[in-house]
Amino acid sequence: MSDPLYSIKMRAAQAGTHISGAERMVPASAASRTAAALVDRALNHAKGVPDFIQVKIEASGEPLRLPALSVMTHVTRTAAEGRALAVDLLASAGIAHAEAIMVRFAESHGMRGAMLLDADTLERLEPDPARGVRATYMDDADSLAKNTLSGKNHYAEAIVLATKVQYAPGIIGEICVSDDPDYVTGYVATRSLGYRRITVIKEKGDPAGGRIFLYRGPRSQVPETIHFLEQRRVVVTDVPLLSEPVAACRFRGLEADLALMENAGLSRFCRTLEAPAGPVARLDGREVAVLSSNDYLDLARDPRVTAAAAEAARRWGAGSGGSRLTTGTQPPHVALERHLAAFKGTEAALTYATGYMANVGAITALVRKGDVILSDELNHASIIDGCRLSGADILVYRHNDMVDFERKLAACREFRRRLAVSDAVFSMDGDSLDLPRFLAVCRRYDAFSMIDEAHATGVLGATGRGLTEEAGCDHPDILMGTLSKALGSEGGFICASRVLIDYLRNTSRPFIFSTAAGAPAVAAADAALTVLEAEPERVARLRDNVALFTVELARYGIRVRTASAIVPIPVGDERQATALAELLLERGFLIPAIRYPTVAKGAARLRVALMASHTPETLRAAAAAIAEGLGLAQRREHPCHILADGSQSRDPF
Ligand SMILES: *Cc1c(COP(=O)(O)O)cnc(C)c1O
Repeated sequence: MSDPLYSIKMRAAQAGTHISGAERMVPASAASRTAAALVDRALNHAKGVPDFIQVKIEASGEPLRLPALSVMTHVTRTAAEGRALAVDLLASAGIAHAEAIMVRFAESHGMRGAMLLDADTLERLEPDPARGVRATYMDDADSLAKNTLSGKNHYAEAIVLATKVQYAPGIIGEICVSDDPDYVTGYVATRSLGYRRITVIKEKGDPAGGRIFLYRGPRSQVPETIHFLEQRRVVVTDVPLLSEPVAACRFRGLEADLALMENAGLSRFCRTLEAPAGPVARLDGREVAVLSSNDYLDLARDPRVTAAAAEAARRWGAGSGGSRLTTGTQPPHVALERHLAAFKGTEAALTYATGYMANVGAITALVRKGDVILSDELNHASIIDGCRLSGADILVYRHNDMVDFERKLAACREFRRRLAVSDAVFSMDGDSLDLPRFLAVCRRYDAFSMIDEAHATGVLGATGRGLTEEAGCDHPDILMGTLSKALGSEGGFICASRVLIDYLRNTSRPFIFSTAAGAPAVAAADAALTVLEAEPERVARLRDNVALFTVELARYGIRVRTASAIVPIPVGDERQATALAELLLERGFLIPAIRYPTVAKGAARLRVALMASHTPETLRAAAAAIAEGLGLAQRREHPCHILADGSQSRDPF
């Protein structure tokens, strides 16, 4: 930054008693003017002429930018009315003991800082109760931009402070009552309510007042909260000039949430790729290698597949015009379901408009309140949503831990139905389910077994039939898959017994209450399945590419583990992962950073997805760029075969 920010603080006293104080954060170019303005302010304060003025100027670094809380004014006529309103407002924000909290103002008299109270136990948490906690190092971004440094604006300063406080970790609310006996206005602030100004909250002439910050969280986090309040540099944007009517407040909460995501390196946007799905795309007019497409077998743009879609569009129309049970079933739908059942080796199949709907639709149809679901902790979001929507009890077991799974399932005998569900290939880690053991446990406790083959269909097994082919074991009761990944089209399916499919057709709400997929997508998936059956060498090429890429990474000392075409490269920190993805994009490789909430906080990673058509040159160059980004530039002839868990080299599948 060419003009770095400085924090400028002024405090003034008379005979050892504090009479005024103020702070600003301004660019270096405005520092001396600001300091002078603050000295003027101290010299002209209503409380008297100071005999001591201190001005402190410190470099501030990059501040955190926070959007101002929404502001509303409540006009009250009496102190009793104002206090009752404050209590009601806090109660509506989940703070139960507001009445008892208000009484605590009596203790805060003479404190320079605020009281920090545990919102539930009402214990005081400040390390120095005589001083309290001071929220400081903050300013209004607009005064900074406009350089309006002179006049004191109590109103804007209060909103800046209240905003900073509400973003401190663990803080859930604030109550402020002025300690000026003549100033009867106060406020209550929470993230959800915003800044609620209460015109009369105390009797005129009452000197009792101060600030109370309300905290909810572990004691171990209190130092972090205090550090944020006292040290974190913050500028507050969009401080409103006047109280806004209620109606204008509703978008502020959204803006605040977006700003928080941005600050945490978690905001998301859509990139426009100017190309069909494939290993190469154009992005902002530049050619990039795509190492993140789920079109594993290059079927999305295969001429036989696109011709089938075009032909179906001409023959059957673009859209189906109805739900499957009314007018939306056309010959391509029937043909695809037969084909899928034959491919997977089940009695029947049912298709949905998306894979997401197939998961939600199957789970919600099979179980409800009174039933129980056993779900792997790393299952895909569409499984999680289906579980939640079903109303059944949900028991989450440790990732791929069949001992934990069995222990939990064994305790579920009293439920009406039991459903165990797992990804076949875990979409963010690339590992696969231990299917034989999963099925054995399900059988032992008479649980429905369901696996999601979104990333297994077309990838696992010698002919791409999925995890059952790979593991050489029986089918689970419900095989879910997508048409949208290796099959290059869009849609989802369930393959299962006749009776189960009949049941879903009659009860599955996303199947019943949504328009059937259009014939072009359906015919494309059918054609893709035909190509896959005729050309299983695509699956072998994909497998070879995974082997080549993992060995290439190992030459740089990067050890990865995968059972599929998904290769996760652990990074950890969200911002670092994003920065690495940006760097790779500059080098011409599109590999996204996967962050919370898709994966756990602090478990950010690059997620590479390989295709059968990636060339060895592309894979070698990508591995080199990743290594460079991770600061591991040294390539060795002999790959490092020792894995993180100490095991020796293995087949990448
Ligand atoms: C992609 C995916 C889905 C959803 O499939 P769509 O067809 O994209 O809706 C479901 N489960 C898993 C594991 C996935 O990766």
